[in-house]
Amino acid sequence: MAATAMRMGKRKRIVLIAHDNRKLDLLAWARYNKGTLSRHELYATGTTGSILSRELGLEIALFRSGPLGGDQQVGAKICEGEMDFVIFFWDPLEPQPHDVDVKALLRIAVVYNIPIACNRSTADFLISSPLMGEEYQRQLVDFEKKLRPALAATVGATET
Ligand code: PGA
Repeated sequence: MAATAMRMGKRKRIVLIAHDNRKLDLLAWARYNKGTLSRHELYATGTTGSILSRELGLEIALFRSGPLGGDQQVGAKICEGEMDFVIFFWDPLEPQPHDVDVKALLRIAVVYNIPIACNRSTADFLISSPLMGEEYQRQLVDFEKKLRPALAATVGATET
């Protein structure tokens, strides 16, 4: 039976990612929210995290750089229930070499009902939510239930 909810603790596991043209924007946002961010567990893709920890002195666990698989690592952590929250300032004006990875991460965040901010105002609203300091049950759609008939049909077809 698939899990229908995932528990988020008071201390959230937050991933920070910014494409190159958005890194200064994320840095300014993180500087303003440093006090709140420091009360949570922080993760980031390689370059973004290096900049934030160097400039703000925040403790941040680093994944690989985005173009080298960092976005995929974040997606895998979300699937495994090890991430709660994503701040992802992606660049809407420049194609990225790892566009497919970016799309995959955005998709998997929706599948697992992860709060995800892709611009500064959304990030402001999310981080100022009272839920940031509380436990929260993230409800999951039972997508497995939806996939089960297709799986049964496929297995049935190969057995005949
Ligand atoms: P970076 O990766 O933090 O290593 O620049 C971000 C991205 O491009 O996804």
